[in-house]
Amino acid sequence: MTSYDYQLFVIGGGSGGVRAARIAASLGARVAIAENFRYGGTCVIRGCVPKKLLVYAAHFAEDFADAQGFGWTVPAAEFYWPKLIEAKNKEITRLSGLYENNLIGAKVAVMHGAAHLLDAHTVAVNGQQLTAEHILIATGGTPFVPQIPGIEHAITSNEVFDLPQLPQRVLIVGGGYIAVEFAGILNGLGAQVTLCYRGEQVLRGFDDDVRAHLFDEMVKKGIAVLLHQDVARIDKLANGSLSVDVSGAHASSHMVDAVLYATGRVPNTMGLGLAEAGVVLDKAGGVMVDVFGHSSIPSIHAVGDVTNRIALTPVAIREGAALANTLFGPSPVSADLTTVPSAVFSQPPIGTVGLTETQALAQYGEVDIYSSKFRNMRHTLSGRDEHTLIKLVVDSASQRVLGAHMVGADAPEIIQGLAIAIRMGATKADFDATVALHPSAAEEFVTLREKTTRTKNH
Ligand code: NDP
Repeated sequence: MTSYDYQLFVIGGGSGGVRAARIAASLGARVAIAENFRYGGTCVIRGCVPKKLLVYAAHFAEDFADAQGFGWTVPAAEFYWPKLIEAKNKEITRLSGLYENNLIGAKVAVMHGAAHLLDAHTVAVNGQQLTAEHILIATGGTPFVPQIPGIEHAITSNEVFDLPQLPQRVLIVGGGYIAVEFAGILNGLGAQVTLCYRGEQVLRGFDDDVRAHLFDEMVKKGIAVLLHQDVARIDKLANGSLSVDVSGAHASSHMVDAVLYATGRVPNTMGLGLAEAGVVLDKAGGVMVDVFGHSSIPSIHAVGDVTNRIALTPVAIREGAALANTLFGPSPVSADLTTVPSAVFSQPPIGTVGLTETQALAQYGEVDIYSSKFRNMRHTLSGRDEHTLIKLVVDSASQRVLGAHMVGADAPEIIQGLAIAIRMGATKADFDATVALHPSAAEEFVTLREKTTRTKNH
């Protein structure tokens, strides 16, 4: 039998790679991992974690204003961006260190450096050639930006977390997760925000009622949302401002301090030597894998965003764990991704699990829709014109709840619990039989009575 330096060599120290490395090591494998930036990956360094910290920061603006309705006198509040960024950086450094220490604690050989494949069992890193029985590609993704004139003046989610100052006027391009999340963050922190999206409504793929509701709430908060519009060119002026030409149904021109592109992400596979090693990639450069994470080459595997499937941290973690168990555990395991809840940390946030109304109709033919739009109790005194939307999509025939959707305060926290019920196959009657928790917004999910039945072609 050939003897390799390692049984598993992981390229990429993000959520998926780190989980796979730690589990493989705990199962007794000799494991090494290489990361060319900082341990923790997109989620910890420039994704979920810093984003959520910035969402908290942004929300204080409304909290201070709302407090007045509850008898507080709040003196004019001031926000200082560098202080927030410094605090955020400290927390990120702490978490990144934790990731690295946990790997070291699990007896994984931890390396800093860009690794690439030399062949199906050999990796080059920091001038060394190392062999491994298995190689795991967990290099994540990177922002995609379309090539338009002046694109070099734009930033992406890679840079936005470390800007020296809060830009006063920002134009955000895209209508997906990152675009709407940063629209809420930057608007809350005091910037004047314009969101420019090429499609008919933000958040394509989400339930249509959710999309329309978030759009309304964003506009109420003062975000200018341009639909059916796209950026044609960006010019940098002598004073540092950016002049942005927007084309579409209503061509317009905008003077801003920053243009943030949030136009999707692509798998990070450039320069890894994958194609040369015979690994089949998809059109976007993602590693094509089976349900276990195996690529077309038996010794090479991939998990997480680099596989170009569901780009969510908890999914990468599941895939990493499953792969490690498949390679070094008693029997093959695939990640169960039947009901993946997801949140958009927009303002207000979205929580969603299961099928949208459109998806459910396509799959089941007839569905019962239950929904409610209401003002949270908090806003009876705050006076804020913000509404919450909740919606259940139910299969008319079996009465199984197929999807739960919410836009409103704490939606992600509420949907996580509902995801368990929906995964277990809860019916509308199960929801109805559950005693309400009063007073809460969440109780609306168990008190919905008015239904609208929709059938496929109607
Ligand atoms: P998304 O795929 O969510 O959205 C990309 C947006 O950019 C879409 O609105 C898309 O439009 C638009 N777009 C794509 N190409 C172009 C183009 N050439 N010109 C103009 N617009 C374009 O990507 P994000 O970058 O927002 O986020 C990447 C992924 O990261 C998400 O899909 C998600 O998986 C993950 N993520 C998850 C978060 C969470 O869980 N809260 C937070 C942030 C990211 P169209 O709809 O027309 O295609």
